Amino acid sequence: MPGVAPRVRFAPSPTGYLHVGGARTALFNWLYARRHGGTFILRIEDTDVERSSADMVTGILDGLRWLGLDWDEGPGVGGPRGPYFQSERLDRYRDAAARLVTDGHAYYCYCAPERLRDEREKAEARGEAWQYDRACLALPPERIAELEAAGAPRAIRFKVPAAETAFEDAVHGRIAFDTRSIEDFVLLRSDEHPTYHLSVVVDDIEMGITHVVRGDDHISNTPKHVLLFEALGAPAPSFAHVPLILGGDKKRLSKRHGATSVTEYRRQGYLPEAMVNFLALLGWSPGGDRELMSIPELVASFSLDGISGGNAVFNTEKLDWMNGQYIARLPVAELAAAVAPFFAEAGVKAPVSDPSFLRLLDLLRPRAKRLTDVVELARPFLAETVEYEPAAVEKHLTAPGLALHVTALAAALRATDPFDEAHVEAAVRGTATERGIKAGALIHATRVAVTGRTASPGIFEVLVLLGRETSVARLERLVGFLAALRSAPPSQ
Ligand code: GLU
Repeated sequence: MPGVAPRVRFAPSPTGYLHVGGARTALFNWLYARRHGGTFILRIEDTDVERSSADMVTGILDGLRWLGLDWDEGPGVGGPRGPYFQSERLDRYRDAAARLVTDGHAYYCYCAPERLRDEREKAEARGEAWQYDRACLALPPERIAELEAAGAPRAIRFKVPAAETAFEDAVHGRIAFDTRSIEDFVLLRSDEHPTYHLSVVVDDIEMGITHVVRGDDHISNTPKHVLLFEALGAPAPSFAHVPLILGGDKKRLSKRHGATSVTEYRRQGYLPEAMVNFLALLGWSPGGDRELMSIPELVASFSLDGISGGNAVFNTEKLDWMNGQYIARLPVAELAAAVAPFFAEAGVKAPVSDPSFLRLLDLLRPRAKRLTDVVELARPFLAETVEYEPAAVEKHLTAPGLALHVTALAAALRATDPFDEAHVEAAVRGTATERGIKAGALIHATRVAVTGRTASPGIFEVLVLLGRETSVARLERLVGFLAALRSAPPSQ
């Protein structure tokens, strides 16, 4: 439909959390809408009352909001084609089913589920597939009258026309199918609940959807939908079926591969901008080898043609790398805001708006892949007392005479003025030379003294950041620790 602004939708069933696959489908729809000045609609497919829950809806909305995928019509924002919860649209599905019966595209089916099950089982025992045998299509009017008079439960089945038909898929090209392999599927169950096929098509028509972008797992449903659009007298939208997301072992992504819920990634310390960038490249490419793309860049280059037909592999290492890149580039005040909840969660007090904290973040962030890493890296800087890691003690604190060297360094640092990187470095190197030891040995011990660890950002920067008083106090505390270590019985 050239010239018409697209209307696309994300239509999750709230029977589970927002899976990364669902988030990627939502993102592709959102990018398409934003690229073409279209409308992104969020529709909650909650007709399965038993399996849907309000909590799941909340989780899905929160996940979309966190990713920044705002919807133009849907829960919370409303819109001219609502309601946007299918559970509030049941009358429309019933009306559409009744209309299809009136128009001869559908018929009532009174078959008992037991009979259908028996027939299916018998066919399967013979190694055959079974399709509904259209028993109710052949019922004489008197029999129908009898069944109606007796109040027999009835479903509505679609009368699948015998025809070759096809649809054009933006990802897979033309997909042709023979309708003889499609049985007369149920549209409305005997309890008057619609099946997915009916509700999705009725809503796509009523909501004016121009493009259906959804997972490959729906490809087999699309022929049924195409037939239903025709029967309801509406043009079918364009379709784009997006390839599945696989784990590293090329099997469909599942919990076995690690986190699959968007909320879980948020909890693990990924930035939404990194997650969006990563998800966008799962099955889509702007061409070339561009990897880091901001949201406006993604919007500007997104097209359905760029979606590949092959399955996409979810590579956590790449996600970590990308997240590290975003952590490194975020304006530091924004990073402080992003890490604040992680510090709170870990129970580490952080002066998030203090300039010294921002300097600390700048120092640490090149080493962080996740926001949780930032907390761990910052912990020794913010804690009252440093905890010495056993491995660090073992590796760097056993040299004889170390306490005296460290005492000398504490004295040298006390006299270092100005307390900047160049002077601190000169003090450390000078002390090592005076005491006839390698600078490395003194640096390692100093690192343990001030951070408790074997690795940290550049030690001179670290000392300057901590300031003279704290650095000296930590060195002196190490001297005490070393004395205690010497007098303690050796460990086995
Ligand atoms: N509610 C369906 C699902 O969650 C999606 C339907 C569609 O996109 O057509 O799989």
